[in-house]
Amino acid sequence: MIGESMHDECGVFGAYNSNDAARMAYLGLYALQHRGQESAGIVASDGAKLRMHKGMGLVRQVFDNEDIFTRLSGRASIGHNRYSTTGSSTANNSQPLLINFKAGQLASAHNGNLINAEDLRKEMEEDGSIFVSSTDTDVIMHLIARSKHGTIEAMIMDALARVRGAYSMLFLTENALFGARDPRGVRPLLLGKLNDSYYLSSESCAFDLIGASTVREIEAGELVRINGDGIHSYKIPVYDDITHHAHCIFEFIYFSRPDSFVFGSNVDKVRRKLGRQLAREHPAPGADIVVGVPDSATTAAIGFSEESGIKYEIGLIRNHYVGRTFINPAQSGRDFGVRIKFNPVKGVLKDKSIVLVDDSVVRGTTMKKIVRLLRTAEPKEIHLRISSPPITSPCFYGIDMPTKQELIASGQKVDEICAYLEVESLGYLSTEGMLNVAPQPRDHFCRACFSGEYPMPVNLTGDKIGQSC
Ligand code: SF4
Repeated sequence: MIGESMHDECGVFGAYNSNDAARMAYLGLYALQHRGQESAGIVASDGAKLRMHKGMGLVRQVFDNEDIFTRLSGRASIGHNRYSTTGSSTANNSQPLLINFKAGQLASAHNGNLINAEDLRKEMEEDGSIFVSSTDTDVIMHLIARSKHGTIEAMIMDALARVRGAYSMLFLTENALFGARDPRGVRPLLLGKLNDSYYLSSESCAFDLIGASTVREIEAGELVRINGDGIHSYKIPVYDDITHHAHCIFEFIYFSRPDSFVFGSNVDKVRRKLGRQLAREHPAPGADIVVGVPDSATTAAIGFSEESGIKYEIGLIRNHYVGRTFINPAQSGRDFGVRIKFNPVKGVLKDKSIVLVDDSVVRGTTMKKIVRLLRTAEPKEIHLRISSPPITSPCFYGIDMPTKQELIASGQKVDEICAYLEVESLGYLSTEGMLNVAPQPRDHFCRACFSGEYPMPVNLTGDKIGQSC
């Protein structure tokens, strides 16, 4: 849920052989803004030199004048939207990263989180390396720069063979665009095409904006190189016995836009099914209306409504123009945090028994505020339904979540959470139900935040291992 201390991750977008590659990346990042709002950046290549512009803020704030695009000339580009934890939210950690090294210039943009970045960083620091950022991406760039191989694709594969964890990554050299996806395919990455130009994106909604069509997903464990010779595919060496994928099921629950296509399926369709399954598992007989917490739970709420036959209503309005930098007026003595984002529709809610659908509950603090806000509209009852199972464990693969101790469902039972949230009833979707409607075999999905069973080994002290992105 938005504002619940589980944040969007990162979005990446790349263009090759495009007339105005930087502007295409700008549009792509615009479509992927939901995946990260802390910083944005683009690197473009004119065939001889890479140039970069990046900064803190939304895409439109960072790219706010034409001169930027004039400087970022060229037919190839990569772009990145970043979300990060507050402590690491610095310009140094914004992406893309751009380096000069023995093979020329290289830029990278990363979505995911490595689980062995700290070990690799320490090893290289002891060997004399100096890091300018605390991101995992910096570690990968160092590994590439230190590789003894002779071609850039071999150097990238050499580096990726040493890292463990989740990555959907883009690389740009003076004359080639690369896309890579970790061997378990935790995060999405797709290939698109428009006339003779090619694009790589975290989600297909960015292709829709520029009029490109989706060609295919980059396979788990695949590196693609796009240059004047066309598209070449390489297999990244695997480091252990990987028998199945570990696609992040939260991409369907919350992160990806409903109009996107990820992991071979339309997000809208899967999210609707989650809502339908939730209605089957936790009906709310006698309720008058279904209300979704906008925007991420709207589709699941419609699914709940379709299955239950209870009318869907827009009972909560979200202000889309609230940035992360909203400053609560201290002198007022009131917490405007949730009120500035949401407002209940009194004419819809008054005297009604409502089913409130949200996609997840993290700490529970924001949900409690929303429930209290809804009460001001004087509904008769609030029955809360959650279109995912209880989150009991943090994510180590690129989603910024609080520690295990801060997750409300890690220490409290459903009836205790129900009492804390002050709702008449509470129902979470079961893990079985979620996996039954998932569009691929159940062992193709990571669901560690619900089960605590991590598909790749992690440090379970609750500390973050690297910088999420
Ligand atoms: S732990 Fe949860 S959020 Fe993280 S990759 Fe797995 S399913 Fe996704």
